[in-house]
Amino acid sequence: MSLKRTSCAYCGVGCGVMIASPSDEENGGSSAPHLSLRGDPEHPANWGDLCAKGERLLDSLPLPSRLLYPQQRATKALSWSDAITLIADTFSQTIIEHGPGSVAFYLSGQLLTEDYYVANKLAKGFIGTPNVDTNSRLCMSSAVSAHIRAFGEDVVPGCYQDFELADVVVLVGANSAWTHPVLFKRMLAARASHGCKIVVIDPLSSASAKRADLHLALRPGTDSTLFAGLLVHLADNDLLDNAFIDGHSDGFYPALTRARAIAPSIERVAGVCGLSPAAVAQFYRWYQPSLNTVTASCQGVNQSISGTDCTNAIINVHLALGQVGRAGAGFFSLTGQPNAMGGREVGGLATQLACHLGFSAPERQIVQDFWQAPALVDGAGLTAVELFDAIEQGDIKALWILGTNPVVSLPDSAKIARALEACPFVVVSDITADTDTAQYADVLLPAQGWGEKSGTVTNSERCISRQRSVVTAKGQAKSDWWALCQVAKAMGFIGFDYDNSAAIFREFAGLSKVVNQAFPAKQFSIAAFADITDIEYDALVPTQWPVHHKAQIGQQHQRVFTHQRFATETGRAQFVCASEGSSHNAAGILNTHGDHHPLEELATDGRSQGLYLNSGRSRDQWHTMTRTGHIASLRAAQTEPTVFIHPDTARDLGIENAGFLRIARVGEPITDKRQLDMIPASADGVAADSVIGRAQFDDSLPPHLLNMPMHWSQQFSLTGGVNLALDSRWDPISKQPAFKCQRVDVSAVSIPWQGIVFGAVVNPANEGIGQRTFPNALWQVQQTLTTGECIYLGFSSQVLALQSLNFERSLSWHYGSHQISCSLSQGKLVALCILAEHAIEIDVAVVASLIGEPMVPALVKRLHQLLLAGNSQIICACTGVTASQINDAVNQIIQQTRAQGASTSLSANAFDDETIDKVQQRLGCGRQCGSCYSEVQTEVRAQISHCRKQQVHPAEEVA
Ligand code: SF4
Repeated sequence: MSLKRTSCAYCGVGCGVMIASPSDEENGGSSAPHLSLRGDPEHPANWGDLCAKGERLLDSLPLPSRLLYPQQRATKALSWSDAITLIADTFSQTIIEHGPGSVAFYLSGQLLTEDYYVANKLAKGFIGTPNVDTNSRLCMSSAVSAHIRAFGEDVVPGCYQDFELADVVVLVGANSAWTHPVLFKRMLAARASHGCKIVVIDPLSSASAKRADLHLALRPGTDSTLFAGLLVHLADNDLLDNAFIDGHSDGFYPALTRARAIAPSIERVAGVCGLSPAAVAQFYRWYQPSLNTVTASCQGVNQSISGTDCTNAIINVHLALGQVGRAGAGFFSLTGQPNAMGGREVGGLATQLACHLGFSAPERQIVQDFWQAPALVDGAGLTAVELFDAIEQGDIKALWILGTNPVVSLPDSAKIARALEACPFVVVSDITADTDTAQYADVLLPAQGWGEKSGTVTNSERCISRQRSVVTAKGQAKSDWWALCQVAKAMGFIGFDYDNSAAIFREFAGLSKVVNQAFPAKQFSIAAFADITDIEYDALVPTQWPVHHKAQIGQQHQRVFTHQRFATETGRAQFVCASEGSSHNAAGILNTHGDHHPLEELATDGRSQGLYLNSGRSRDQWHTMTRTGHIASLRAAQTEPTVFIHPDTARDLGIENAGFLRIARVGEPITDKRQLDMIPASADGVAADSVIGRAQFDDSLPPHLLNMPMHWSQQFSLTGGVNLALDSRWDPISKQPAFKCQRVDVSAVSIPWQGIVFGAVVNPANEGIGQRTFPNALWQVQQTLTTGECIYLGFSSQVLALQSLNFERSLSWHYGSHQISCSLSQGKLVALCILAEHAIEIDVAVVASLIGEPMVPALVKRLHQLLLAGNSQIICACTGVTASQINDAVNQIIQQTRAQGASTSLSANAFDDETIDKVQQRLGCGRQCGSCYSEVQTEVRAQISHCRKQQVHPAEEVA
């Protein structure tokens, strides 16, 4: 048995993973060795723990429709040599005809550092185009801008250990229980061990908020007012670290004056934020010199039109307390992607050069000399949204997209699709040809995926880890750095002859060494790796930068700015004044005094005229589902594109729970809100500026705020993703798009006939879901199951439904309100379709397992039983435990408790807690990766509450 250490491919926590593979002897000559996986107990990010996604990394490897060889358009196979020649020749000709800026690259936080480094070197140093940006622009560029403004450099000063040393952890716009589960569990463990408080600031009652000691459900977009008020509170109550402010910072008094104008008193803050003065005061008490407080933020802050100012408002507070570079205290930006930080280090953003350099003459000179670059760019390039605008306008003629899916992930998806359609030459490197973006590729290159590629990544706490290949690359898949180097060499550039990823990492470290010598105030350094051997690189252990000397390799728990010397011109940290207008709402309406809020206005306007949409995420999915959408256990908890909506709002709009709704950009009025047929539609039947989702009632939401996960795309769902309904407004400083709290129009959609199909009717062998196998469908979503797959469908009439479901029906009958059709072959069930004039609730995994079984009366009876039983939502992805199993367990516990009279001395709360524990003991739910704990808790409490209403509860018998 051999053991390899690698790292998880998903979030910025950057957990270490160990993969065991059998020796040839143990494997018995099998071509598909059985690998096993567990968390790396020695990795400092996770100490052996993993979340549900990490635990299923091996399940991601058998990817259906894997891209195995280069292709021209979707059909013609190319050799690598022909593909390289085609790309190099087209890029060269485009540069001759339109200049270097007409060639662009769009990169990804999923790339390894070595891929990222080479892409930037080729583009910014040799082709001479500054137009290189990355999807990291969409997730943390506001934090980058805020770091640079405050510290002079994009540096996260703290480390994960700070979350364990803190007295108080404050999560702002961060649902870490879902987005950074392993780190969140470390916070919970710290609370259990020494009583650290967890505060969540979020308009949504997220899974993290449900477990917080204090949840401030403030109005969307008012976070900066809350933190401006906190700065005022510290000043007014003599809680400032004056020694730090006077000795190591600039700009405190202007920042305080500005904060005072925005948030002069707790009462004013409470009014703007929609909180009680008591809650604000309680929150403010947790920031003071005698307490260690960590404030961490994520997309709820970053993805707004004032994300940079809001982040600086938080940093201002910690600077005022002298909390920077201090154990257990300070600001911490949680990074979304596994290597977003690595991309920032190599200059992946259009606004940087490598090693955190800008574009001043001395900075450019260093890079030019080091690379011997013939065409080093002289300034920043177009950022993500600008880049695709330029493509649509015809200014960019050739584009190479690596490891990302911008048609789905960027706002205003229809515009991105138009831009790619119009672009004369698009190259896409990916692991599958099924992504929405790949449909626009002139050349598709098969990239190595997780488990195949080898290199380094940097996580949220500046820790560099190895990703190691654990399986042989499928087909002709190659590493991205290799493909980039081949194109560079074919274009005649020198400096791209690397033997392996170690050689690239060495060169990058060499550049870091030179940069450090020239700019010693810069904190980023991996100089110690400049002469690392291939063997040392292969054996590299997780190491936090800055790492100047070899003796520092392997170092952990490092903080930056411990000596209060910053990378600014003065060497002092900078307080930042909020920009004029920055205290406004993410929708851009609240004025600079913070005394007018759109959600208040809506109360008199009427709900249907003013609803807001948040783009969020699901617990078990990752990005646009290209790596997780085919894993049955990760698809089980949320099967279809879902829009969470407050029941009162939904009822006002005539939307039923599990009914359908359409979300459209404001300014695109719908002529008849109830008739899908009246909606201006594209050729596919879906309006290009809107998205349709299935409504799920959630009474914890603010009445005017809807929430839709961002993962869905046309690869999995006919009606596409949330970004069809969002425009590309951005933060003016970071140019990060604002995916949160955009004003939208919402209406009910009538899709009266709904169905689910299983088996051969799906016909995966030829076209697949992305090819619209069901032409009349208004709703079509594919779900991978442990045994096969099913497709949810919706039609405007029964006639159209039956026409579309064009498979040979051997049997057809009605059961209750359901119409069931079966196709048989040699007496066995090969296809099944269930239709009804309502949503069909059935355990799809069990029904799918009936395909291939003999069609006997017992099977029909089983099918009927399943229809009677209905469906129950999967609550725990690790164990597959459903809501109904939890409810059954609660009922049993209540009955047993009453029979024994055991808990009559318990308070209702204590009884709830004890029941949660017992349910977990019985079913195992919420105890493996722990991400679903709050959902388990909610389900148990809801069932107990239901029982309380139905009958006397055991804990109330003595009340
Ligand atoms: Fe992977 Fe989960 Fe760890 Fe994130 S928290 S790196 S998704 S295992």
